Amino acid sequence: MILKSEHLAEKQNTLYDAIIVGGGAGGLSAAVYLARYNLKVLVIEKGRGRSFWMQQLWNFIPNVVSGKDLLEGGRRMALDYGADWLNGFVEEVTDTGEEFQVRVKYRRKNSEYPVFRARYLIAASGIMDRLPQLADMHNVYEYAGYNLHVCLICDGYEMTDKRTALIVGSEGAINTAFVLNWFTPYIYVLTGGAFPVSEAMREKLAAHGYPLIEKPIARFLGENHEMNGIEFVDGSQIAVETGLISMGSVRHSAYLESLGLKKDGEDLLTDEMCRTSHPRIFALGDLKKGLNQVSVAVADGTLAATAIWREVRRAAPTRKWEENLQTPAAV
Ligand code: FAD
Repeated sequence: MILKSEHLAEKQNTLYDAIIVGGGAGGLSAAVYLARYNLKVLVIEKGRGRSFWMQQLWNFIPNVVSGKDLLEGGRRMALDYGADWLNGFVEEVTDTGEEFQVRVKYRRKNSEYPVFRARYLIAASGIMDRLPQLADMHNVYEYAGYNLHVCLICDGYEMTDKRTALIVGSEGAINTAFVLNWFTPYIYVLTGGAFPVSEAMREKLAAHGYPLIEKPIARFLGENHEMNGIEFVDGSQIAVETGLISMGSVRHSAYLESLGLKKDGEDLLTDEMCRTSHPRIFALGDLKKGLNQVSVAVADGTLAATAIWREVRRAAPTRKWEENLQTPAAV
């Protein structure tokens, strides 16, 4: 059920088997599995995550058209099987040793701060891509996620043999050009002048014929979400057919900080069932080390939910057919 104000008091007394932070691709998959294992599950979703932003979902079978379709279908399925759902922002998680206490900001205006309880926690809150910071961010949102891509694995194919602007946030990210060239050799590398580029990298780009442009971007050109050029602050322009932003990302994991989970860089480390270094916390999808793809996040949800079910099931008494114990059935 979708939780509203009037349900909060009762639901704070419920000990859920699992609370899932994030109702994106991974969280929804875990929710459907947990609900179909007849476990009590609550999904908490703040809205407008990476799945929501995905205009076109590629490389996933069956071919769902967009991230919004995936979210809507997954949420309907989880609710149909009995999961609880709260639109809210998880601010803090405390581990008492027995259970997790999950503090949520519910409603932007007239906010309430309910605390929900669960034996297991699934961190499925994903990441968000860094975008070029222009004076007019509406101009960026007009194209980002359409033909101004953020994911080479997802959208490399869409860039095949197209004139592409690769927008980078660090010298390391310039190396993306030498992967992108599997799909297209027509690459402009744009740094915005945000960092110095080494002589060795300049020579490597020149040897491949990829222009390096270090002027800040003024705006993206185009219409109807179709970017077709870039204008720089000096008024000059380049014509392109597509773009790729490679500026890194921000992890949605502030609520986990006090729990001291093991990481590799910024990525959470997990075992093969998506269990983190805490035995009752699982991490899925983009938040953990691995490929940032819907198919991976969905599979992670399957693994984490199944690991949790195994533990809950093994700790529970086996169910017996009591009537037959009293009077054995005549068969
Ligand atoms: P998400 O889907 O991002 O879900 C995390 C959820 O957690 C979000 O809904 C967010 O709102 C919520 N959340 C975050 N913090 C909190 C909090 N504190 N409290 C409550 N909720 C919270 N992948 C493909 O396989 N194919 C594609 O074609 C493809 N195209 C893409 C296009 C774009 C523009 C982008 C941005 C990504 C694309 N991806 C694609 C990647 C794909 O979106 C991610 O790999 C996938 O969504 C990861 O799933 P996830 O569950 O880990 O995270």
